[in-house]
Amino acid sequence: MPPEATTFDLVSVNPGPGEKKSYELDLYLPPLEFAGREYAFVPDVVAARLDLVFTGEGYHATISFICRLEGACWRCLEPADLDLEVRAEDYFELELPPLAELGEDDEPSLYYTRDGILELSAWAHDAVAGMLPPKILCFEGCKGLCDLCGANLNEAQCGCERPSDSRWDKLKEWKPEA
Ligand SMILES: [Zn+2]
Ligand SMILES: [Zn+2]
Repeated sequence: MPPEATTFDLVSVNPGPGEKKSYELDLYLPPLEFAGREYAFVPDVVAARLDLVFTGEGYHATISFICRLEGACWRCLEPADLDLEVRAEDYFELELPPLAELGEDDEPSLYYTRDGILELSAWAHDAVAGMLPPKILCFEGCKGLCDLCGANLNEAQCGCERPSDSRWDKLKEWKPEA
């Protein structure tokens, strides 16, 4: 059974304005879909630190944690992993306008709180999604798979005859007229 999403009750903190509080907590990170593939956090529960500064109307919140993503290399499908040091900051109001009043320009952070409960797992998940490299690879220079026979080109050259593309040959012969 997967762990439950981690939440934090902002109302229960009940600090004075300007007061700062820090918490160490276990944070569940749900699997992440990226470039059409699914990546899992290993482990999927990590130690996180949550810092809150109360402004009188809401919280300036910072969450920080270290995590590892595992899944298939985007090019060759062999196992790939990525270590990340994550630090996300956002502002969460305690009294939120009804969802119907939210416009397109409103901050997305509004969607991570409901009735003073901060959805930590969802916030952390989206923070990671926003800091990923363009592609997750098994190593930087991965050569991927042969598009003819499917061989892993990191292990060996497969020897497939690659028919030269006549369109490109034509282009090589082409010279601009003087
Ligand atoms: Zn690879
Ligand atoms: Zn091949």
